[in-house]
This record gives sequence, structure tokens and C-alpha cells, in this order.
Amino acid sequence: MSDCIFCKIANGEIPSNTIYEDDDFRVILDNGPATKGHALVLPKKHYADLFEIPQEVVMGAVKVAQEVAGTMKKKLGCDGLNLVQNNGAAAGQTVMHFHLHIIPRYENDGQHILWKPTSPSADELVAIKNEILG
Ligand code: AMP
Ligand code: ZN
Repeated sequence: MSDCIFCKIANGEIPSNTIYEDDDFRVILDNGPATKGHALVLPKKHYADLFEIPQEVVMGAVKVAQEVAGTMKKKLGCDGLNLVQNNGAAAGQTVMHFHLHIIPRYENDGQHILWKPTSPSADELVAIKNEILG
């Protein structure tokens, strides 16, 4: 994708703060980080989102994320870590090239990545289950 910024970054056409690279992936520091060390796993090939990316590539991305997560813990001393992956504008995706957020978490870091829980009834949950399975 010639006009995709993450294609250009992943393939080294645009410089980035790279913390990991192999034949298929580049991991860069997010330039608007939620916390210290917030990074993005970018596949070098263009896939818009989870609906498009082949299973073996997504598995590779998670493998890379796990490796980098270990490094975050060792080097940055994070207390926890979120993996976040947005698909579609409705889910908050702003760059339409698949990416996996690695967000190191620190006690009292002031970030709020969790959602607001709702309270469906037992019947409503069963209806949703049936809709998914039906
Ligand atoms: P998302 O909302 O899941 O699409 O996340 C896009 C992320 O990419 C945001 O956290 C941005 O801060 C980050 N981002 C956008 N452009 C760049 C860039 N040129 N270099 C590094 N991170 C970027
Ligand atoms: Zn792309």
C-alpha cells in the first residue's frame, strides 16, 4: 500500500524508534505513548485489520509481542502490561494497517484502558450466546 504510513515505517522508508526487527515484523515506539515504552508490532506486509490478516501472521505478531513484553519487564521494570488491538474506526483504529499495541503498565500510571462494564440480565446473555451460535 503506497500511501500507508505503517507500510513505510515497517519497511524502513520512514525512520522510527525501532526496538525489534525481523523478516516479517518491526516493533516501534508509539509516538503518542500511553505509558513509557508503549510500542507497536507492525507486520511488514499490509493487512488492514484482524479480519484480513492471515492466522499465521497474527500468531507471529503475538509471539513477537510476548518477547518484547519480557524485555519491557526486564529493562523498564513495568508492573503489568496490556496488549491492545483495535479493528475498525468503531473500535478506535486510526491507522488502517494491522498493529498490536504493547502497553507497559506501572502502578498509578494514571491510564485507563479498561471499559465500563454493563449489566445484561441472564436472559439477555443467553440470547446473545444464541445469536452468536445460531
Ligand atoms: P490505533 O488507534 O489502534 O489505530 O493506534 C494508532 C497508534 O499509532 C496511536 O497510538 C498513534 O499514537 C500511533 N502512531 C500514529 N502515527 C505514528 C507514527 N508515525 N509513529 C509512531 N506511532 C504512530
Ligand atoms: Zn500498510
